[in-house]
Order: sequence, then C-alpha cells, then structure tokens
Amino acid sequence: MARIGITTTVPSEIIFAAGSVPVDLNNIFITDINRSAYFEQAEVDGFPRPLCGWIKGMYSACLDHKISEVIAVTQGDCSNTHVLMEIYRMRGVKTVAFNFPYGRDPAMMKRSIELLREYFGVDEPAVEAMRVRLNRVRAKLGVIDRMTWRDGVVTGFENHLLLVSSSDFESDPDTFEVKLDRFIIEAGQREPMEQSVRLGLIGIPPILDGLYPYIEEHGARVVYNEVQRQFTMPFGGETLAEQYLKYTYPYDIGPRIDDINEQISTRSIDGIIHYVQSFCHRQMEDMIFRERIDVPILTIEGDSPRPVDARARIRLESFIRMITRRKGAVA
Ligand code: SF4
Repeated sequence: MARIGITTTVPSEIIFAAGSVPVDLNNIFITDINRSAYFEQAEVDGFPRPLCGWIKGMYSACLDHKISEVIAVTQGDCSNTHVLMEIYRMRGVKTVAFNFPYGRDPAMMKRSIELLREYFGVDEPAVEAMRVRLNRVRAKLGVIDRMTWRDGVVTGFENHLLLVSSSDFESDPDTFEVKLDRFIIEAGQREPMEQSVRLGLIGIPPILDGLYPYIEEHGARVVYNEVQRQFTMPFGGETLAEQYLKYTYPYDIGPRIDDINEQISTRSIDGIIHYVQSFCHRQMEDMIFRERIDVPILTIEGDSPRPVDARARIRLESFIRMITRRKGAVA
C-alpha cells in the first residue's frame, strides 16, 4: 500500500478508499525518538532559523520515513506549506494539491474532493462507504471526548493524543479502532479526576513536552482540545463535502469562535490556554480570541520539541492560581 504523506487533516476517506494509507507527517515527526534531530537536520539543510518548527520537522520526517508522495493543502492551511511542497519536489517527493475553499463554497468543495478522488482513481460509492466506516471510529473518539469533560476519567493528554490521531487514523483504522475500544473499557473503570479548574486548549496542537501533566500537577486539567476535536469531525454531515465544510479550522475564524464559545459553555470551562507556534501567522488570531472569548486567556508560545520552559511554567501556575481564586470568590 502506498503511504501518502499529509501535512494537515485532508479527506483521508479518499486515500483509504483508494487502497493507500495516509501518514500525518506532524505525528510521525513529534512521536519519533529523533524529533530533535529532525528539527536540527532541517536547519542544516538550509531552513531558516526563524521558521515554524512543525515545517522543519515535517520536512525531515518525510525524507527519513521515505514518504514519496504528499498531499499539499494549498488553501486553508499554511502559507509555509507552499514552499515546503516546492522543496519536497526538489527532493524527489511527488505532491498533489488539495484546497479548502475560502468562504466555504459548497460547489468548490465538491470540486476539490472530486479532483482528489480522480487523482487517486477511486469512485464516489467507494469513498462514501469508507466515510461511513471511518465515522464509526470518529464516533468512538466522541465517546472518549465526553469521558474527558463529562466523566473526568480521561486526561487532557490522552484526549489530545487520541483525537489528534484522527487525521490519519494511525494509518490503520481497524487497529486504531481496537485500541479505542480497549481504551474506553479501561478508562471507564477509573475514578474521576479531582482537579477543580477546567481549562480549554485552543490553537494548533502544542509542540512542547509536559504541558498537560504540568497543568494537572497544579490543580487544573484540560477538558477541551479545540483543534484535535475538530480533526475528529464532530459535526458529521450528509456527504463528504458537507463534512469537510463543517470542519471549522481551515476557513474564516467566525464559526471557529462560535464553536469554542459553545464548548466553553457546555464543558463549564474556567479559562483558555491559547497555544501559538513561534513564527506562525496564526499567532495573530490571539487578538481576535481576546476580543471574542469571555473567559480568561493565557497565551503560551512554543518553538521546538522540548519541555515547557521555566517562564511558561510560572505563567501557567499564576494563571491557574488566579482562576482558582476567582472560583473560590464566586463560590
Ligand atoms: S504552526 Fe503555523 S506555520 Fe507552522 S505549519 Fe502550522 S499553520 Fe503553518
């Protein structure tokens, strides 16, 4: 089976239906024992220092894992990806474009999906059958998400790891589903966690180590991973095009903020951590979040794959203490 690299969530239903497997380059970078070496290798090869660490990691991971074909999202994701694709091609990696249409135009989304389907030579019924198949797995991720915020038996980090894996279903939906089934049984037998401060983590998945455990050690826990939950496609849809139009991340920020505010209310969230990546254009979204989200927000920035630094630790600790005091005052 051909392994198709992906740089963000794309319609993996098409890739699986074609008999190939998606490989999320972010995931293989960040979970690899050599991830720091990947980061450094990209700089040795000429990537500038002031550039997003995910881009550097994906570059090296793709070459090291000998991925020979990558889907490039050329609209709705990251401008850095455009040049990354040029560099991949220079290194002999084949690339194919996919667009999330700005403005959520249904006809353009349908066309984007058709083009990808035609590229992989797979018909619509086969893709729809795979969509139904993968939606069963997505539903189990929804169960795990509820076990996180409602039942308090799944940690923020477990939630992050499992939900973020729905971009590529760990390249094997059957094995991934078995893993989820086992996890649901095991976590269902746990006692609920005790941390009283409930936090949401919005923005791109963090590159830093130890963020979630540090938060838990200080009396809080993450009950909402915004983008990771979006990867699971929690809103479903009647067709593949509709499903990917309801996905909030690649389009304008309005519906994304509506979703965040709704989850703040549903999950009784006390505060938000906005994770931003150094040298990422999405850092500017912080301005909008601060105007349109009513709970306290702490912005944490990460650069490369390494433990949360002392400054961020102090800020996290103060943030949690401030919320604890506010909750105490309200109670
Ligand atoms: S973190 Fe920002 S710059 Fe880096 S790959 Fe993601 S969108 Fe692009």
